[in-house]
Amino acid sequence: MADIVVLGAGLSGLACAGALVRAGRDVVVLEKARGVGGRCATRRIEGQAVDHGLGFLHGTDPEFLAAIDGVRALRVPGWPRVVSGQGTPCHPAAFDPATRRLAFADGVNVLAKHLAQGLDVRLKTKVTAIELAEGAVTVTADNGERHTAPTLVLALPVEQSAALLDGIEALAPARALLGTVRTHPCWTVIARYDGPDDALDAEIVYPAGGALQLVAHDSSKRPHPRVRTLVLQARPSWSARHLADPPEHVVAALVAEASEQLGPWAAAPVLTVAHRWRYARMDRGAGLAAPYLVALPGGARIGIAGEAFDPVGGAEAAFRSGRRLARRIAGGGTDE
Ligand SMILES: Cc1cc2nc3c(=O)[nH]c(=O)nc-3n(C[C@H](O)[C@H](O)[C@H](O)COP(=O)(O)OP(=O)(O)OC[C@H]3O[C@@H](n4cnc5c(N)ncnc54)[C@H](O)[C@@H]3O)c2cc1C
Repeated sequence: MADIVVLGAGLSGLACAGALVRAGRDVVVLEKARGVGGRCATRRIEGQAVDHGLGFLHGTDPEFLAAIDGVRALRVPGWPRVVSGQGTPCHPAAFDPATRRLAFADGVNVLAKHLAQGLDVRLKTKVTAIELAEGAVTVTADNGERHTAPTLVLALPVEQSAALLDGIEALAPARALLGTVRTHPCWTVIARYDGPDDALDAEIVYPAGGALQLVAHDSSKRPHPRVRTLVLQARPSWSARHLADPPEHVVAALVAEASEQLGPWAAAPVLTVAHRWRYARMDRGAGLAAPYLVALPGGARIGIAGEAFDPVGGAEAAFRSGRRLARRIAGGGTDE
């Protein structure tokens, strides 16, 4: 039996698990996907990395920046340096002078892999049920694995945490809290083009209206030789309206808008891949103040972390909430 079972190997779950292991705890991380990182996601298309979730890292928190500095991989400091368009960035604070921004030449997912080093992460393990017993919590996964521990951490998008807590009466207050925040969807299209990567100076374009929230010139983060690649992210409201659309309709709509923004060349990608993030981002400033930790009658503890549990939002919030929760678990309740 582990001391703590953590659900989710995104930045929040990994930050939490890593800090607990360093505090001497025995931790198991269960992750439904084939790899770690969650929304801090990078694909490889013909060997070239593409960030199809979070596009770059930004923050001011010393611990978050120290974790980024610990990654042994080629950096693209300051990315995006050349930004155009009249639209509002998803995280305007990313462009404050005091904020550090960067990308990794191999994709943002190298941060997640770095945080996962030395952790016991069980991939392809989707937790489907949680049961409370005297002093312990047992989780059951779709591959038949069962894990029992005195402390359970949920480090998932709030909607997925809420679904797992459904029907557990002792956790009704936690569910109610989760119901106060919402994660919006995001349709994302990767578009690759023939020809040299010199048709676009901007590294990110934020259009003022329409379906597109942003166009990321993803290949501008990659070392030469590279194939010109864009990542098109749709606005939350557009993504919600088109959530059930076939991917080819989404590709056609977003590529047509990208071409209006960038020029006729952008209308003819040689390869496209659509990805629907059902839970992508929260409203700016809508996060809760801190991670949640409750001791249940009988002694078991449930902690909840994730980007929703820190007001700065995004990847930095996910990381910070995981670290803060780990400190509270390890310290028996104290926060900092
Ligand atoms: C398109 C897009 C653009 C973004 N842009 C930015 C940006 O510019 N700046 C920024 O700061 N942030 C941005 N974000 C948000 C940022 O990526 C997230 O805030 C952060 O990565 C969330 O980390 P997390 O650990 O809270 O959750 P996640 O990364 O969602 O991690 C949760 C993990 O739990 C796993 N999981 C889910 N259910 C189960 C289950 N039942 N059992 C086991 N495992 C499960 C998932 O597979 C996942 O790996 C963006 C996200 C997207 C999708």
